Parts: sequence; structure tokens; C-alpha cells
Amino acid sequence: MDLQLKEHRVIVTAGANGIGRAIVEAFLAEGARIATCDIDEAGLESLPSGVIRHRVDVGDTKALGDFIDAAIADLGGLDCLVNNAGIAGPTARIEDIDLPAWEQCMNICLTSQFAACARAVPHLRKSDNASIANLSSAAGRMGFRLRTPYSAAKWGVIGLTKSLAIELGSDDIRVNAILPGLVSGDRQRRVLEAKAQSQGRSVAEIEAEAFSFASIRHYVTPEQIADQILYLASIRGSTISGQAISVCGDLKMLA
Ligand code: NAD
Repeated sequence: MDLQLKEHRVIVTAGANGIGRAIVEAFLAEGARIATCDIDEAGLESLPSGVIRHRVDVGDTKALGDFIDAAIADLGGLDCLVNNAGIAGPTARIEDIDLPAWEQCMNICLTSQFAACARAVPHLRKSDNASIANLSSAAGRMGFRLRTPYSAAKWGVIGLTKSLAIELGSDDIRVNAILPGLVSGDRQRRVLEAKAQSQGRSVAEIEAEAFSFASIRHYVTPEQIADQILYLASIRGSTISGQAISVCGDLKMLA
């Protein structure tokens, strides 16, 4: 299927590792032009040549805005924004989560998406195939025990997405949220180990329980998530907006 993404001008936040890196590499393979930012300098350096890269903490709204402006100037415009940056936040009981930890999770998982959209939208209006993909999570549609800040932020991402999709429909800008669940990679291992430790259970037990409620009973790879994002950015995805799309078989619980 020809996605017609050659020369598509794309910004992906947090593209040095994990899902973000898979998205960057997948767009690059289609001949798109990419800019990304991350806090991991070594990871940024190891990206393929041709990727515009900036060291930026998306929790710093001013630095994020400056990056978006510089990237759009370098790309000569913008067709697609992928708000990928996100952190796990604390795994703890509510009374043990301090305000700075809550705010950091909100800033990186939610406020950064608002700020990037606000800066990018005037440029997306000039594109003839404009889209935004916001990374939410299966935790954005269910409660997530001991991960309250993360779950609250990811529910917020879906509200941001659905509201913007309505607002920007008349500008022909599509806005969708992508909801990964159990994704293969380092991040998932760290999260499950923290959860297993806090509950005195094994990782295998938690995995088996989670999969027993999903219609896809295996890990999804970052590359498979990137495939969905490319489809939505492409002309083939031009009828899809305002959706919160599960890419994990609609995982129902991670207790
Ligand atoms: P990851 O931890 O593997 O990679 C995240 C990247 O973000 C890293 O390169 C890191 O350096 C960068 N980063 C972290 N804080 C940053 C900051 N303040 N500013 C800029 N860059 C920063 O994460 P991932 O698994 O690839 O997750 C990507 C997105 O998908 C996130 O929004 C995450 O919440 C979401 N998600 C992931 C999973 C999963 O299982 N991996 C599940 C559901 C949702």
C-alpha cells in the first residue's frame, strides 16, 4: 500500500528510543522528513542521518515551543505532529505521591501535548494532509492501580484529542489518540517489575492476568504502533479523526 508519505514533514517528540524511535524510523523509511527532540543525547546521536534532532525537555514549555518553531522552519512547514513523549510517573499509593511528582507526570504526559499542538496548529492549517497523533495509553480508558498520575494524564490526552478534533475539523486537521498497552521493550519491563515488587507478585502473574482480559494476548512491538501512526498520517487514513484507537486488543486491566 502506497502511503504517499514521501516528503511529508513530521515532528515526533521523544524520538530517541522506544516507540518514538520506531515512529521516526518508519516515517524515514517512507521518505518523510523528520524532526525530533529528546533528553537522551546519546540516543539522539544514534538516530539515522537526515533526522533533525534537538536536545529538549518537553516539560520545559518554552524550550518545546522554540523546538517546534525551529523544526518547522527547517522542514519548510508541517504536515504531521506526533506527541509521543511520556513518562511512567510514580508507582505509589496516593498519600505517598507528592505534588512535584504529580506535576512532572502531568507536564510531560499532557501539558507538553497541549503546548506542542498550540504551536503547531497554525502551520498544520497550511498543509493539504494535516494530522496530529497523541500517545495516550490503555491506562487512558481504565483505572490503573498505584499509577494514578499516569492514568489521569492519559485520560486527559483523550479529552484533548477529541476536543481538538472537533475544533480543527473545519481546518481539515485530523486528530487521533493512540492507546498502546503492553509493548515489548525496556519501559514495560521496568513498569511491570515496579508493579510486581509493590504487590509482592511475579511479573509473569501480572502479565497473564492482563492478557486474559484483552482480545490480543501478546506484546505489541513499537514498530506495530508506528504502522498505525503512519496509516493515520497518510492519505489512506484521511477519514479518521477524533478517535482513541487501542493498539493492544483493548486491554481492560493491569491491576
Ligand atoms: P520510553 O521510556 O521507551 O522512551 C521514552 C523516550 O522519551 C526516551 O527517549 C526518553 O529519553 C524520552 N523522554 C523522557 N522524558 C522526556 C522529556 N522530559 N523530554 C523529552 N524526552 C523525554 O517510552 P515508550 O514506551 O516509547 O513510550 C512512548 C509513549 O507511549 C509514551 O507517551 C508512553 O506513555 C506511551 N505508552 C507506552 C507504553 C509501553 O508499554 N511502552 C504503553 C502505553 C503507552
